[in-house]
Amino acid sequence: MRSMEVMDMDMENRGSGISPFATAQAIFLSPHYDDVVLSCGGTVALLADQGCEPVVVTVFAGEVPDEIITDFAKWKHSRWGVSGVEENVLRRQEEDRDAVEALGARAHWLGYPDAIYRGDRYLSDPSLFGTPQAVETGLVNLIADEIRSMPEWDDHGTVFVPLGIGEHVDHQIMFAVGRVLAARGVRVLAYEDCPYAIHTPAGVDRRLGEVAGDVAPPMPVAIGTTLERRISAIAAYRSQVPVIFRFTTDVPGTVTDFARKIGGPLGPAERFWPVLAERAETTITSDVGDHARQIA
Ligand SMILES: [Zn+2]
Repeated sequence: MRSMEVMDMDMENRGSGISPFATAQAIFLSPHYDDVVLSCGGTVALLADQGCEPVVVTVFAGEVPDEIITDFAKWKHSRWGVSGVEENVLRRQEEDRDAVEALGARAHWLGYPDAIYRGDRYLSDPSLFGTPQAVETGLVNLIADEIRSMPEWDDHGTVFVPLGIGEHVDHQIMFAVGRVLAARGVRVLAYEDCPYAIHTPAGVDRRLGEVAGDVAPPMPVAIGTTLERRISAIAAYRSQVPVIFRFTTDVPGTVTDFARKIGGPLGPAERFWPVLAERAETTITSDVGDHARQIA
């Protein structure tokens, strides 16, 4: 059974090519430098084309002194081919600026350190993709307040956050920020974290189980006109692409196939789960297959 909202959006997408988010100020929250572009760059470009002037805010973009970083962070650097924090941050900011500007949006970076730079809280991949440390609970309100104090802030705008597929602690913290903002009456949409959702579809179900009651059913946005720009923008993350797409040799084909699978008859699409202001009693689960059938 399709919801009215999904049907309305299908018609809007098909009929006029206008995004359902066209009138809102759009703030896209990216835990790391590449997450928004990887996950929903087609929608960013769509909004930019419609004069919405979207902002892509990378939250965990802060720098820390090399002297205090851990062996785990040094190992990550070696995989990315950089020698230290400054080189890593500078390179990633350059890549991010290229990618975000290719979509017609503006990049904005906040000073919170990435989880791998937050002392000894996350010293291995299992902890980095596990439960956020209790000591970080305060970070959620701090970040939510900082987002609301940005000059671009508009009470009637839309904030995009990651759903948290893949379980990276920084992504989970950003979803929690989305819940705080939604509880304060802000329209918040959670995007589908890629490439996690692409290479591990079971992770989508797992995460939807964890956030059941926090989100409404997903809404697809047709991105047929902007998919190529999303793919070009992804390629701008030169230091990251070989690592994060190590499961494929055909990045454009992989991204295209996934967008088509998500969209079904809509053509290539990206989907978003509305974050609810209050936790609902109902359990909502869906996976890519169910959704493709749902909109077929
Ligand atoms: Zn990330």
